[in-house]
Amino acid sequence: MTASSDRTLLEVRGLNVYHGQLQALRDVSIAVPVGATHAMIGANGAGKSTLLRTIAGLHHPSSGSVLLDGQDITGMRPARRVAAGIALVPEGRRLFPSLTVEENLLVGTSGGRQGPWNLDRIYELFGWMRERRGQRAAQLSGGEQQAVAIGRALAANPRVLLLDELSLGLAPVVVRRIYGLLPQLAAAGVTILLVEQDVSQALAVASQAHCLLEGRITLSGEPAAITAAQIERAYFGVTAGGNGNGSGAPAFDAGTGQPGAGQISGAGT
Ligand code: ATP
Repeated sequence: MTASSDRTLLEVRGLNVYHGQLQALRDVSIAVPVGATHAMIGANGAGKSTLLRTIAGLHHPSSGSVLLDGQDITGMRPARRVAAGIALVPEGRRLFPSLTVEENLLVGTSGGRQGPWNLDRIYELFGWMRERRGQRAAQLSGGEQQAVAIGRALAANPRVLLLDELSLGLAPVVVRRIYGLLPQLAAAGVTILLVEQDVSQALAVASQAHCLLEGRITLSGEPAAITAAQIERAYFGVTAGGNGNGSGAPAFDAGTGQPGAGQISGAGT
């Protein structure tokens, strides 16, 4: 059960973002209700990280706006956004490798909000973490590091948690374990916007999914209502029956989590 409501907590309106000459986001608009989990899927370079980083204040849009609970925060500095309730788990974790687990978590408390997520609660969420709190982050496995990165973001007591490619570089079993925690966060009232290339994982946890293709949203809907063919089309920008690789076969192996008829069918087709 999630604590989702109809009230929009995070909204982006007509966002256009450039990296130099390259337009990374084109007129992107989404509205994420309180307690919902939205997933942004798309291929390499589609603009997913740019969207999260723009919401976190790390890129500046050339036009469009970002709103948190109705307040326009487009011009707000990143640190103030953390204090307002937006926390990012960046692609690649970005922990401080020479600091301990607990020191990394404490970094997350700095500048954050008051709220239910203290160290004890984070240690409860990740059962193994308390007894290894004195270990350096560099000594952890990739999955453990990802957990610490999530814990660090939670330590800021976010209203909105932005998760960038949690599955990157992790074994499927670890990915499933990490994703298995998200419903608990949603049930605790955390609103989540995640980006993922592992489509089946994203669709399994999301209440709403969006597909980005070359910076533009090409599909939005509830995972159960979206067909594999629609996703393939939105993901690759090809017409039904084709997949952009010219082979006529599903474009990706089912084991990769990338769009392919077999992989997505369990998510609602
Ligand atoms: P990936 O899964 O590979 O991270 P993505 O969907 O998150 O892809 P972005 O990282 O947002 O996509 O990149 C969108 C486009 O912007 C890509 O063409 C990328 O090369 C480009 N880009 C991203 N960051 C920068 C940057 N700092 N400077 C220049 N170009 C950038």
